[in-house]
Amino acid sequence: MAAVEILFQRQATDDRWMAAAACKGLTNLFFPPPAERPQARDRREAAAEAVCNDCAVQSTCRSFARDHHEYGFWGGESEDQRHAAGYRLIAPIGVRAQQAG
Ligand code: SF4
Repeated sequence: MAAVEILFQRQATDDRWMAAAACKGLTNLFFPPPAERPQARDRREAAAEAVCNDCAVQSTCRSFARDHHEYGFWGGESEDQRHAAGYRLIAPIGVRAQQAG
């Protein structure tokens, strides 16, 4: 099997869990709008966490986000929580801004 076929097969397999995601159609809860204020972020992420806590693929989702340095709220975990757990964001803009303040 060619490398590109292996890569394609792995990507197809790795994404299958997303079919069971409880957050379909709720993108606005899981990714911030521009210039979101901290209080609004807290409210949005609390709502996202409630959805994640009832999701059948939470553990797989969390691992995926950690391994792929994702932005947004994944697997019951915010960007900041992933960063604090040692799964660094590629460009942790919000984390840096908080540390500077
Ligand atoms: S754990 Fe949360 S972010 Fe992940 S698929 Fe489920 S609802 Fe979506």
